[in-house]
Amino acid sequence: KQNSCPETSFYSPVVSRLVPYVPGEQPKIDKLVKLNTNENPYPPSPRVIAAIQLAAQQGLQLYPDPESTALRQAIAAHHGLAAHQVFLGNGSDEVLAHAFCAFFQHGCPLLMPDISYSFYKVYCGLFNIPVEMVPLTEAMCLDVSAYARTDGTSVAGVVIANPNAPTGVGLPLQQVERLLRLHPQRVVLVDEAYVDFGGDSAIPLIAQYPNLLVVHTLSKSRSLAGLRVGFACGQAHLIDALERVKNSFNSYPLDRLAIAGGVAAFEDQAWFEQTRRAVMSSREGLVLALEDLGFKVLPSQANFVFARHPHHDAAAIAGALRARGVLVRHFKLPRIEQYLRISIGTPAHCDALVQALGSVLAALA
Ligand code: PMP
Repeated sequence: KQNSCPETSFYSPVVSRLVPYVPGEQPKIDKLVKLNTNENPYPPSPRVIAAIQLAAQQGLQLYPDPESTALRQAIAAHHGLAAHQVFLGNGSDEVLAHAFCAFFQHGCPLLMPDISYSFYKVYCGLFNIPVEMVPLTEAMCLDVSAYARTDGTSVAGVVIANPNAPTGVGLPLQQVERLLRLHPQRVVLVDEAYVDFGGDSAIPLIAQYPNLLVVHTLSKSRSLAGLRVGFACGQAHLIDALERVKNSFNSYPLDRLAIAGGVAAFEDQAWFEQTRRAVMSSREGLVLALEDLGFKVLPSQANFVFARHPHHDAAAIAGALRARGVLVRHFKLPRIEQYLRISIGTPAHCDALVQALGSVLAALA
């Protein structure tokens, strides 16, 4: 429905060009086991809730700090950066949008993996950025050498997710560095939405690489998908460009509740460690259980796994799971049509999924 755009003189030409992102289902009933949009199965720290409650009682009639200084400082301190090396947005989706606007509109192609976060292509449509898809290898890994330009033509930059989405496969840091060296005059954006679940963050490379922008979110490892906070880290000249774009769009992307909750999330490291370790440990168990059921599972460094069954259709499995009250994600896209992306839930969620899968596979056999 979203892809057929009516012809009307009211719309500017950009509207008919848009191919909007279709988000995963957010069900209206809460009885489902929801393993389809990579949320954290654990709630945020109680300190986050207390901080939001306090902020709600104080000053909501006033605009928030447009620079979100307290949260920038908290994030900078956590990552060993200065506050002016951190940029904040309303979810990392918004941070990405500003980055695409600020860095990739050069009139030449932006390089990205053929299988990656599908919002990247949407931003290219929004900002009229040509795209060049670089295929993942047979094993669904990123091949850095394929990002070199040997014919002298220009690129607008490079964007990757590490760990990749929806595969969950991570790229070692030396390979990220190779990518940074291939295009020193362009921004290499590394989207690390899932890095806290076992990946290697490129943030320590920022001092060395003026072209590196790393994007993070509080939606996954900090359990705050509902609060909408994302951030980018990079050298000051990159952050300045993002600020210029932001202040040309919305000077107050983060409200007072988000700033207060975000700061509290970074103050409770014990909660962060405990919950992310619980997710990683459930992942290990789930991979074994899926393999027992005959699935081939890609190695995951994220809070989800990407799995296919050699004998059963992925769409049929997803549909049958849904009928049993379990939501997983299926993408009707080339190369990955036979895969399911399953978010890591609590041990009880994972058990419910495995049980449901067992009966679905038996019924399909
Ligand atoms: N990057 C990747 C790779 C993602 O999977 C997601 C979540 N769908 C995002 C960014 C956006 O996350 P958020 O806007 O919640 O920060």
